[in-house]
Amino acid sequence: MGKSRKHKFLFVLLALFLLYGFWLGCNLLRFKTYGDSSLPASSREIKGAYHIHSLFSDGRKSIDEIAKLAARRSVDFIILTDHGHPNVESLAEQGWKQGVLVLAGSELSVSRGHLVGLGFDVPSRPFSQNAEDAVSEIQSAGGFSIIAHPYSKVSWTWGEFIDYSGIEIINANTFLKKNFLGMIPYLPAFLIKPKYALLRMLKSPERNLRKWDELNLIHPIYGYFGVDAHLLYGPLLDFLHLHLLLPEPLAEDFGKAKDQILTALRKGRFYNAIDAAAQAKGFRFWAEAGQRRIPMGGVSRLLSPLSIHVRATFPFSKEICLIRNGKRILHSREDNLVYEAKEAGIYRVEVYLKQRSPLAEDIPWILSNPIFIRKENP
Ligand SMILES: [Zn+2]
Ligand SMILES: [Zn+2]
Repeated sequence: MGKSRKHKFLFVLLALFLLYGFWLGCNLLRFKTYGDSSLPASSREIKGAYHIHSLFSDGRKSIDEIAKLAARRSVDFIILTDHGHPNVESLAEQGWKQGVLVLAGSELSVSRGHLVGLGFDVPSRPFSQNAEDAVSEIQSAGGFSIIAHPYSKVSWTWGEFIDYSGIEIINANTFLKKNFLGMIPYLPAFLIKPKYALLRMLKSPERNLRKWDELNLIHPIYGYFGVDAHLLYGPLLDFLHLHLLLPEPLAEDFGKAKDQILTALRKGRFYNAIDAAAQAKGFRFWAEAGQRRIPMGGVSRLLSPLSIHVRATFPFSKEICLIRNGKRILHSREDNLVYEAKEAGIYRVEVYLKQRSPLAEDIPWILSNPIFIRKENP
């Protein structure tokens, strides 16, 4: 290569590099999380990160280190899910740490894929490798099961529906691995504004949502956003949250507080949110039939009148979508939505952010759990 051609080549390379730096810099400067995380939510709404691995399986930090990071990020609780049948070491570490409630279940590798068991007592012998047997053993030990990342890493093979309590709709670790090539231009962002890079990494969870709607027609099952953290704990603890609505403020006593959280999860009294894009606290979804209020996760007979309510009072623009049996029936950019339900069905809500955001437009920023309206008495 001649000297002048070499210079030209280096000049083009430098120009491209500067252009790239300018493009990324502008994007990072413009990025902000909407809403104010320091504003207290109601004492009955708490938020936490679910699906976390520690040194007790393939995670990179100890539980104490993870709890310390969580305490700096205004999460009320974290749920560890170390691999094991169950992972006894991880379960033994539960308690209040650094002001954060640390709960643990286990992620089991079973015949159909990965299954998260929560809320069980340590069994006298290991849980089965067979999916159906493991679900019933977890249940006999007082717990409940969630299908983890059904379409990635280890895909779930679907058999007859058994008593699963939940299914993961978003699993952050999955996207991190799947979209690694597409993420290369954003890699420097992980050092400067990791939340921006994580938001860019997400893709629409459409396939999981369709399957969830299909399963709900057979049996109530609740949707979860999980971080599946093995590293990048700080940014991931800030990224996706379960927002639980409790009948009473969280107890100080560990045993009571643990019960409150597990009960809310068992009953579907929670919604999911990508809080890194915008703070979702304050979102509400419920139904009213006369004097009766039916909460998220609740079941009711179709009464007349029966109204469905959504409250999404946020100081930025968003779109509420009301969904019945998997189909969008209504959308609104207002803060409140009221719908007179004349038909039975499985009603749930997705909220999309309509402000400039690295979160793609086809990813629900908030995902509620359903309210089940039956023709007959439940
Ligand atoms: Zn897994
Ligand atoms: Zn996992």
